[in-house]
Amino acid sequence: MSVAATADHDSATRAQRTKIIGDACVVCQQTKALSATRLAGADGCNDVDCVVPMCWPHHHLYELGGLDLLHHLEPRWRREIAHAVSHLGLFTAYRRLTGGRLPAADLRRLPS
Ligand SMILES: [Zn+2]
Ligand SMILES: [Zn+2]
Repeated sequence: MSVAATADHDSATRAQRTKIIGDACVVCQQTKALSATRLAGADGCNDVDCVVPMCWPHHHLYELGGLDLLHHLEPRWRREIAHAVSHLGLFTAYRRLTGGRLPAADLRRLPS
């Protein structure tokens, strides 16, 4: 095994892992091998509202800041979005959830 999981990958609590059982990746709807991903990343906490289900590739992409997640989260995961805002503030949460994209670019973005 050459791939080492980072501490963040394994830091979800039992309750957070339980929350995502039977759910699907918020991006691709895959239902296998999901990760309880903290929207606020390392700034997150152990509250169940802190996590959404994601497959590992999307989890990894999100951690790298290369994923525009927001349109995948609306409207179902609003509670989790609001929770992330409570950690990060609105500006930072917006940037984190959109992969750093500007609002003007988002208006033209179609859901993929
Ligand atoms: Zn996925
Ligand atoms: Zn939290």
